[in-house]
Parts: sequence; structure tokens; C-alpha cells
Amino acid sequence: MGTVAEQAGSPAPTEVRRARIGILGAGFAGLGLAIRLKQAGIEDFVVLEREAEVGGTWWANTYPGCQCDIPSHLYSFSFALNPDWTRTYAKQGELRDYLHECSHRFGVREHLRLGCEVLSAVWDDGRALWRLETSAGPYEVEMMVAAPGPLSEPSLPSVPGLDSFSGEIWHTARWNHDYPLEGKRVVVVGTGASAIQAVPEIQPLVEKLTVLQRTAPWVMPHRDRPITRFERRLYRRFPGLQRAVRAGVYGLRELLVPGLVYQPRLLRGIERLARGHIAKQVPDPALRAKLTPDYTIGCKRILPSSRWYPALNQPNVEVVTSGLAEVTPDGIRTADGQFCEADVIIFATGFYVTDIPFAATVTGSDGRRLSEVWAGSPQAYRGTAIPGFPNMFLLVGPGTGLGHNSIVFMIEAQLHYLLDALSTMQARGARTVEVRPEAWERYNQRLQARMGQTVWNSGGCMSWYIDANGRNTTIWPDFTWRFWQQLRRFDSAAYRLSSAPSPAGQSVELAAHPV
Ligand code: NAP
Repeated sequence: MGTVAEQAGSPAPTEVRRARIGILGAGFAGLGLAIRLKQAGIEDFVVLEREAEVGGTWWANTYPGCQCDIPSHLYSFSFALNPDWTRTYAKQGELRDYLHECSHRFGVREHLRLGCEVLSAVWDDGRALWRLETSAGPYEVEMMVAAPGPLSEPSLPSVPGLDSFSGEIWHTARWNHDYPLEGKRVVVVGTGASAIQAVPEIQPLVEKLTVLQRTAPWVMPHRDRPITRFERRLYRRFPGLQRAVRAGVYGLRELLVPGLVYQPRLLRGIERLARGHIAKQVPDPALRAKLTPDYTIGCKRILPSSRWYPALNQPNVEVVTSGLAEVTPDGIRTADGQFCEADVIIFATGFYVTDIPFAATVTGSDGRRLSEVWAGSPQAYRGTAIPGFPNMFLLVGPGTGLGHNSIVFMIEAQLHYLLDALSTMQARGARTVEVRPEAWERYNQRLQARMGQTVWNSGGCMSWYIDANGRNTTIWPDFTWRFWQQLRRFDSAAYRLSSAPSPAGQSVELAAHPV
């Protein structure tokens, strides 16, 4: 296996490279799996990552102010606690460095193929393997674990005239650091998690900042603070203490679940806190009215910031609530006909989540693409497996998203499940594993049945949790420990395990339970 530099820089070879397991993506999920495989003594795997380094979201998002809104002690691998976090909420650079450091510490660098984008994946039924076309040449893998991330493909609205703009345009997830914003007229489209972090950073630099708000977010005071050296020394000396803090943070966050999932009225106390936050930080009644959401808190992600409202109060900022109708060579026009001159338009408009482009690149055993099977509503069994796609697992798949807790917890539950699946296959002599359609269907029906009462579906907002067919196929609608509980053992009865194909091309289904 070549070095990373060789892999990234070399022309695409035509020779087919093989591995038992191919992991797509080196963010928290893909890297986490690589580490767990290594720990389990499995060496025959590659991690194919299109970016130049590991880190996923925390590598790609470099916008000013980018910071995780889940507390640092919780937002890390359980097997690699970091006593050296410098803030209670880690900033992007620190998270990127943490993941980079993990890739070295756990010895997975030699398995990384960086700068290697997977262009297509096709299941070869006769040979029981996945054929991958990548920007670095073809691969064949027996098992494919896709961890492309639900928040990795930036979404820009199709606005008339976008191509005619003579200034600069970029998305928060592809920040242009080469273009100085000092003294510029800037339009920011969107007021989600990315915008509320970037805006307070750029507001002092720019001449004029126009923020286009379609839906006001609920914003809470931020509890972010530096972690003192003394605390860090304590965590280093007494790892149990950090574990206790982590458990405490986890438990506190789970307290939101009854309100989010079962009884949104339980969130009223939090909503009052958020209203108080607006009242305290926004003295102008007209602006306050604009910034006050008209849906139940929690319906969209609750955002922490103590700097968002103060930034919007500044004289060089205007919050515009009329939609973006058109882009002209010199600026933008809103739906109410207002024209606003601009040098730069920054889209903080989120990602393709329920329609991830990855799904259009994968072809399963019946020749259909994953995007066709999903038809606008992504579904997976336990967020992980899809019938018709043998030997393929998804990490952070449909129905695993969270608004209130750490996604790393969900990822680790999936990693545990996958490792158990691999051991089961080995113990049973199985070459392929595929979830049974009836298990997949029943699981998703149950998931959807729970959704109706949740705040995400009943709170009176539209969010990216809802797919093209109006279903919430993004969020896990329960306590996160219940997900962990469900995935703590690989439930082979829900799967079809088959032996290797015979020379005649036929494989034999193995008995549902070992005899
Ligand atoms: P987002 O939450 O999806 O926000 C997108 C924003 O753009 C929303 O305000 C949306 O308005 C607006 N928008 C979209 N299309 C528009 C259009 N055509 N015209 C006008 N406005 C439009 O995206 P994001 O802020 O990038 O965050 C995405 C997710 O990434 C977050 O929810 C979170 O899970 C994660 N994230 C986390 C952090 C963190 O940990 N701190 C930071 C950034 C992102 P509507 O609300 O009306 O749709």
C-alpha cells in the first residue's frame, strides 16, 4: 500500500485493488470504524476519503466561528476521551486536530486513501462483492460501509440570476478564505446553525451585512467557556472524573427527549428561556418581532449563541425577512421588490440531507440505485441496512439524526453492531448479509408511527428533517440509549446470511440461527 501522498497525487491506476472492507468517508463515523476494526485485529480494509485529510464535517467546514454545539466532553469517542479540550464547546480546529490525532494514535493512517472520491458502487451478485469506481482507480471490496455524512453536500437554492452575479459567491461549508471581507457589502442567506456562528464573526469586518431570514431560529444563551488548566490537569490525572462529567452532560441532554418526542408542551420552560434571551438582547421591538419564531421550540434545532442577537443589533446589519427572489450582477432582489447591493453572497443554506447525492451512485443487487429505492424517503433498518444492498452498511443513516445529543453516541452504537455482524458472519461462514425486506419495512413503520406526536412533526415548522414526501426520515425519535440498546447485539434473524456463491454462481442461504 502506498503512502497517503502517493495515493493523493498519483494518476488513477487501472489495476483493481481489493480489500475485504471498504469504508467510504473518514469523518467521525468512518474513522471510528477504522479504529474499531483495527482494535478487533481486522487489517484488510481501506478508508476512501475524497478530501485531503480525515475529519469529515470538521475538516470541510472552516467558516469563521465554526464550533460544535454539543459539549466537548460528550462529542468525542468513548474510547478516546480528550482531557485537553480547551473549551466546553470545541471549535472546529480543535475537533479536526482531535480526529487527526486519533488517526495516528490508533494506527489507521496506512489504511487511508485520501483524495479518493468514490464515483460509483455496483454490487456484483455473481462474485458477491462491490465494484467501486473511484477518482484513484477501481476497487473491489467484499463489504462496503458507507459513511458519507448527512451534512456533507452543500445545498444552494436555485435562484434566478445566480450565474450573473459579478461578485463572489460561496457556501459556508466551502468558505473562501482568500477573499477578504473587510469593507465589503455582504449578503448572508439563511439563519441556521452555520449562519448564527459565522455572522457574529464577520459583522465587525464588513461595511454592510444583510441577513436574509426565512424562518427565525430559536436561540438559547450559550454556556461556552474556556476549560481552565486546572480542570484539564484534573481530567488528565483522574480520567474517571471526565467520564462522570461526560455521563452527566449526556443525562442532562436526554432530559429533553420527553418534550421533543412525547409532549412538546414540556418544552415551554425552555421556550420561555429563549424568549427571555431575545427580550434581553434585542431592545428594538420591531427587530425583536422579526426574530421571534412562530413555531414550537425544538421543531428545528435549538441553537446556542450569546452573540447572534448582539450582532444583528449593530447599525451595519439589516435583517430582511422577505425571500430571495433574484440575483442581479450587482446584488440581490427580495420578494417584496427591495434591491440590495452586494459584493459577496454567502449561502448558509444547509445541505442535501434526505436526498444525499451518494444514494444516486450506488446500485444494488436488482440493478436499482439506492436513490430509486428510497424514492425521496430514505429508510434503513436500524439506520444501518437496506434490502437489495447486500454487504452494505450505512453509518449515520436515515433515522439516526439527533437534535439534542451527540451523534458520536449513535455512531458508536452502530460500530458495535457492525463488529458484531462481522463476527457473526465469520462464525457462521457467511459471505453475504442482507437485511430482510419485512424487517426493514416493519422497523420503518414503527419509526414513522412514533413521529406524528414529536415536536419535529407537530411543532409547526418546516425543517430539513422532513423529506420530499413529507416524512421525517432523518431523526431518531426516542432516547438515544434505546438506539444503543437495539444495536448492542447483531440480530441475525432480521438478515439473510448466505454462503459464498458456488462455481455455478449460486449461493446458499444459511439457517436463521446457528444449529
Ligand atoms: P440549516 O440549519 O439547514 O439552515 C439553513 C438556513 O438556510 C435556514 O435558515 C433556512 O431557512 C435557510 N434557507 C435554505 N434555503 C433557503 C432559501 N432558498 N431561501 C432562503 N433561506 C433559505 O443549515 P446549517 O446552518 O448549515 O446547519 C445544518 C446542520 O448542520 C445543523 O442543523 C446542525 O445539525 C449542523 N451544524 C452544526 C453546527 C454546530 O454544531 N454548531 C454548526 C453548523 C451546522 P428555513 O429555516 O426557512 O429553512
